[in-house]
Amino acid sequence: MKKYCFGIDVGGTTVKCGLFDVSGELLDKWEIPTRTEDNGVHILPDVAETIMAKIAEKGLEREEIAGVGVGVPGPVNEAGEVPCAVNLHWGYVDIAGDLGRLTGFPVRAGNDANVAALGELWKGGGAGHHSMIMVTLGTGVGGGIIINDRIVAGAHGAAGEIGHAHVEDAITEPCNCGNCGCLEQVASATGIVRLARELLASTNAPSALRDTEVTAKAVWDAVKEGDALAIQVAERFGTYLGKALAVFAAVSDPEIIVIGGGVSKAGEILLDYVTGPYRKYAFSMCRQTEFALATLGNDAGICGAAKMVL
Ligand SMILES: [Zn+2]
Repeated sequence: MKKYCFGIDVGGTTVKCGLFDVSGELLDKWEIPTRTEDNGVHILPDVAETIMAKIAEKGLEREEIAGVGVGVPGPVNEAGEVPCAVNLHWGYVDIAGDLGRLTGFPVRAGNDANVAALGELWKGGGAGHHSMIMVTLGTGVGGGIIINDRIVAGAHGAAGEIGHAHVEDAITEPCNCGNCGCLEQVASATGIVRLARELLASTNAPSALRDTEVTAKAVWDAVKEGDALAIQVAERFGTYLGKALAVFAAVSDPEIIVIGGGVSKAGEILLDYVTGPYRKYAFSMCRQTEFALATLGNDAGICGAAKMVL
């Protein structure tokens, strides 16, 4: 009788681990360091070791374990193979095969942003739905697309990389991906700072942002205070993101769009600036798509990873 499963979220500095029961309740969570030295060869053996240690600690039977789900920061194909994950110093790694051999359990693997999206669909902002676009607004812009409860991975494991959709011809500075004018350059935390700096430089209008270090949080705090310049920044951000989401919705027709990541801590006010442009540009059938904020925070990765094996 399968009673438990593990959800593992491998990051560049720590591996977040969760023990779940098959109904989805998180029973225990902990972290181990990510050892990226020696081309990351220790990462999967370390994960196997911590899983085995937890099974022993909790007195679980091997037969009770349904499997292990793993999210990693890099492209992952349907077979659970990674061609390359820069942050882990990995070249080609067969996660499902290697970790399966190390643990003896069934293993499923996915890209971390896609896996976090699955977590939000299962237990978070997208709960109760089956098709969703998730956008993670952090230092960069991540994304995950779920259609009929399944992660869309694509031919190269690159589906859902919505942060690298081209949205602005005027930007000539390169994005981390090498292209110019990506959504990430105008809608991430650093992108919002870029928009604010541009606007501050283009006018002498007074703003609370002139007297403080310009961060995404400072911009949203100023928006909440009614600062006219900060509101213009929020409108530009919302137009870029809302317009882009209208395009993605025309491709994937989600029931709900969930926005997470550090920038989403601004709260419901952020959705107000995105939904207007979205509804203006969306195809008529998708115009009333629901919007919600993510609710799982850092647990989205381990939750989605666990869900992959259930
Ligand atoms: Zn890019």
